Amino acid sequence: ERKAALAASSGPGATSDGHKVPLLANVGGPADVPAAVEAGAEGVGLFRTEFLFLDDSKKAPSEEKQVEAYRKVLEAFPEGRVVVRVLDAGADKPLDFLTPTDEPNPALGVRGLRTLLENPEIMRTQLTALAKAVEGLPVYLEVMAPMVADRQDAKAFADACREAGLQAKFGAMVEIPSAALRARSVLQEVEFLSIGTNDLAQYTFAADRQVGAVSRLQDPWQPALLDLVALSAEAAKAEGKSCGVCGEAASDPLLACVLTGLGVTSLSMGAASIPYVRATLAKYTLAQCERAAAAARAAESAEEARAAAQAVLSGE
Ligand code: PEP
Ligand code: MG
Repeated sequence: ERKAALAASSGPGATSDGHKVPLLANVGGPADVPAAVEAGAEGVGLFRTEFLFLDDSKKAPSEEKQVEAYRKVLEAFPEGRVVVRVLDAGADKPLDFLTPTDEPNPALGVRGLRTLLENPEIMRTQLTALAKAVEGLPVYLEVMAPMVADRQDAKAFADACREAGLQAKFGAMVEIPSAALRARSVLQEVEFLSIGTNDLAQYTFAADRQVGAVSRLQDPWQPALLDLVALSAEAAKAEGKSCGVCGEAASDPLLACVLTGLGVTSLSMGAASIPYVRATLAKYTLAQCERAAAAARAAESAEEARAAAQAVLSGE
């Protein structure tokens, strides 16, 4: 039965009553594109460009090399959306030539957008390469910054995009609680939000994502994390803008329904999860997802939140 449900699963992501939730793929480069297309991804919701930077430990890839890689991904989704994240170096993704080695707490130091603001030529090359890569293609390019803390960060990123002459939507990732708490002010500078639940959980619970001993606190069903997702989604709705999720949370079919109920407007995940999320979302109405989301937020633990959402959706 599960197999039949999956086989029947194709087309755009939507609830049973037709509320559309685009299902997008997380990719690390052109090599991940075939699986995304095969899974029926409606585009790319997170292109982790740092993989392009891993080949050479001494310098950034040339503009030409970047144009080539970006173009290959952009070409695969004509009329689709491709959300490219600018380089997210540091902490769990250190780069020899960029990441400071003398910080006591690299996760709280110069990483993500902070690295790019300290090395503006790296960001300029990347944004220029994106501007060239998208030329003449019918794709909807969106470009976002990792680790945006506040409105000032969002403005610095949007200014850099404009200076590079980039014709695209500019967005901010919500990975730091301050960005979720003041999402409306971040949205004064950018056109969309994308929640990175892996880092958002890490910074909300002061629980290193690489330390197994604190994995309980990394559970994306934690009601406090759901509260921050809700805040971000509500802010985007109030501003008439979109708010997706591109962290691991989006790949859990039940949680995908809850995120939809919280007001999240698109879900991006590893390609392998897309058919499961599509099939599960198609079983429930938006109102059911909203009731499941309210039940999960009313819970006192991740386990209770999951059980409460499950109970609502299975009609108990
Ligand atoms: C996240 O933090 O949830 C995210 C999507 O980014 P990454 O996992 O690449 O840090
Ligand atoms: Mg992250």
